[in-house]
Amino acid sequence: MNERLPEPLRVLTEQLGKLPGLGPKSALRVAMTMLKWPESETRRLGESIYRLRDQLCFCERCGGLAAASPCPLCSDLSRGRDELCLVSEWDALLALEDGGFFRGQYMILGGLLMPLQNMDSQSLELDRLSARLAEGEIRELILALGSTLEAENTASFVKQFVGRRFPQVRVTRLAQGIPLGAEIKHMDKETLRQSLKYRQEL
Ligand SMILES: [Zn+2]
Repeated sequence: MNERLPEPLRVLTEQLGKLPGLGPKSALRVAMTMLKWPESETRRLGESIYRLRDQLCFCERCGGLAAASPCPLCSDLSRGRDELCLVSEWDALLALEDGGFFRGQYMILGGLLMPLQNMDSQSLELDRLSARLAEGEIRELILALGSTLEAENTASFVKQFVGRRFPQVRVTRLAQGIPLGAEIKHMDKETLRQSLKYRQEL
């Protein structure tokens, strides 16, 4: 089917077909939709794809995607400078930031330790973390890595890594436990174990 398409349409369809969830047929449908758009719309889409590579960079401080480095979060002087929240990926940072309750600094670790998928400590942004802590401003490192097995392993690893090099930095983690509105009898064993382990003063 594709060989009969005029070249520009064929090239676009092939490129679109590489996107997740788009097969050759739906790629062609998307390309045809773009053709029906007003020219300005189609051009705007093209330019926004161009700008994605030309105008986006990684922030040198937190490792997040931004239009400039340091990013607006890292250069915001109204944010606290002694708490650093460590997340595995950028989308976790966005989720926390959406909540609007954390007003400190962030850093993206770049993944979790997953030995079976060749994600070892070399794949994590440990140099950036060290450099950040070596500045001496951070007094608490908050691990917000999640509660999967990989997250737990990564958290223990980071705790040891930081403990050896920066013993003065307090390492904490997000609380784990019973979600709001849940009943004890419906909790799984691991959640209950963690809730008991991280119980707090009333
Ligand atoms: Zn940043």
